[in-house]
Amino acid sequence: MPIRPLILAVLLAASTGCTPSSAQQPSEDHPALADVPQQDSAQTQSEQRPSAFDLAQQANYQPQVHLRSVDCIAIQPFSAVPEEQISTVSDVLQALYGVQIRLLEPVEHPASAWYEPRRRWRAERLLDFLETLLPEDCDRILGMTTQDISTTKGEHRDWGILGLANMPGPAAVISFFRCQRRVREVPPLERLRRLAVHEIGHTLGLPHCPTVGCFMEDAEGTVTTLDRETFLCNICRRRLESIP
Ligand SMILES: [Zn+2]
Ligand SMILES: [Zn+2]
Repeated sequence: MPIRPLILAVLLAASTGCTPSSAQQPSEDHPALADVPQQDSAQTQSEQRPSAFDLAQQANYQPQVHLRSVDCIAIQPFSAVPEEQISTVSDVLQALYGVQIRLLEPVEHPASAWYEPRRRWRAERLLDFLETLLPEDCDRILGMTTQDISTTKGEHRDWGILGLANMPGPAAVISFFRCQRRVREVPPLERLRRLAVHEIGHTLGLPHCPTVGCFMEDAEGTVTTLDRETFLCNICRRRLESIP
């Protein structure tokens, strides 16, 4: 195995109530019935509570960050990714990072990334594959999939994640699969939007941020952390804009 000089920055999402031992069981994440999103059933408080749309609107993707050396991000869908997901991600990356988007033709997941014991895709191998697909005139490439992805985390040989990125580096990958879990007010598509901002932030060199609510907060094992991430803090902005 070649040693990767880049840090793999992980936004982790554990299964609900998943203990380390149960996380090892291949059947835990399949079939997808266990992942059916919960409907918001708070009827009595519906008057007081903001709607999912309102909460989604609370995320602030302005003002635009002025990157000095990154002009173009390629988006590489794996297999069938709904157009709605691609356009959502494309729009937010343009709005926040001020980049052009190059939408690449969909490709199949590479067989080299398949992890048969858990029947899902190894994210670090997807990154290796994505690097080979980076167009010459683009600076970063973002893979998108609706299927489950994983990587090694600590003692966990195969740990399900939302996304993975080189930090800094050319490639990131995000998965919609776990965005659909434990849904409360913030809809899965809005989570995907924040996830894309987070992983591309890593590729630009941003580490995890201690500011609560910043898009670069560490998810610390749960997808619901994304629900409170509504802005890119000034520390992260200054850091990005000072990268030569
Ligand atoms: Zn992260
Ligand atoms: Zn921050």
